[in-house]
Amino acid sequence: MTAETVSGRSCGTCTLCCHLPEIDVLSKPANAMCSNCIEGKGCTIYPDRPSLCRDFHCLWTRDGRLGDEWNPARSHMMLYEQGPQTTVLVDPDFPEIWKQEPYLTQMRRWAAEGKAVGRYVIVFVGDQVTKIG
Ligand code: SF4
Ligand code: SF4
Repeated sequence: MTAETVSGRSCGTCTLCCHLPEIDVLSKPANAMCSNCIEGKGCTIYPDRPSLCRDFHCLWTRDGRLGDEWNPARSHMMLYEQGPQTTVLVDPDFPEIWKQEPYLTQMRRWAAEGKAVGRYVIVFVGDQVTKIG
């Protein structure tokens, strides 16, 4: 936990960010569990994990405006921001969950609110990419 994260929010047994994103420095493809991770237990090289992993905190852990429904362990989605883009990586085992409520309405609202300043929301489910707006 760092000063950047929301008080009371921790990863617990969630390992979604060790599973969904492509991580070049680890030669890890998207949607494959990192070979250093034991699901439900976590990183086996935790003290020596790359700085990329060390510095990463998904949006739910960093932004208190996201309610607990966005807890990745519950939503099966992992969110982060890249410049003007809010990226939503969906666990392919739950490919339709982003279309369910309250998620879709909230993402549409973020897109509408951010449009004036060039912000947008992109949802990835495996190879399927959807821009919300
Ligand atoms: S996706 Fe978020 S809550 Fe889950 S392990 Fe990664 S940083 Fe923690
Ligand atoms: S090295 Fe550790 S923290 Fe980084 S993706 Fe792999 S299991 Fe997760």
